[in-house]
Amino acid sequence: MDKNYRFEPELMTDLINSLKRLPGIGIRSARRIAYHLLQHDLKGASILSSSLTKAVENLRNCKGCNGFTEYDLCYICSNQLRDKKLLCIVETPTDQNSLESSHSYKGLYYILMGRVSPLEGIGPKELSFHRVLDRAQDGIVEEVIIATSFTAEGETTAQFLIDMFSNKDIKTTRLARGVPAGSELEYIDTGTIAWALLERKQVG
Ligand SMILES: [Zn+2]
Repeated sequence: MDKNYRFEPELMTDLINSLKRLPGIGIRSARRIAYHLLQHDLKGASILSSSLTKAVENLRNCKGCNGFTEYDLCYICSNQLRDKKLLCIVETPTDQNSLESSHSYKGLYYILMGRVSPLEGIGPKELSFHRVLDRAQDGIVEEVIIATSFTAEGETTAQFLIDMFSNKDIKTTRLARGVPAGSELEYIDTGTIAWALLERKQVG
């Protein structure tokens, strides 16, 4: 067959390739989603397209916690009722969500936006750990709570953070292990998260 033979419109191929960038979406799923949107849900496709554009154009990283916000500081960082002496370090906004859903934490956060993964070449440098250190050394933070996942990579990330804070004058704690090793924070129920926060252990 002629290698230039094509039956799919170029715009369709572009759409499928864009969808394929999403985590967990392979070529088959990408094609199914593209056909579904264009055949059965044009309105949904427009909404998706416009909210994606708005998010990309208007969201930025919060100057306080590195999470996403439309402003310089997110709702949590600018909330005067939060306890500024506590800084909880999480891997992702989803993990922050899990902690917030437990209604058991009133301090502030720092979101790494990833985890240390030597196999993928992601280390403290790639995750800008120096910014976490700067944030924690604002003269107000008294305790850093390390709330990375209980997976191998989450534990490696925690160890790097513990080492980084080891000779600093900041109390360092780690969430209690109320869950089996290998657990992602986002899949732990809120009751267990509340317990893990309350029972956090001093590690530095
Ligand atoms: Zn923030």
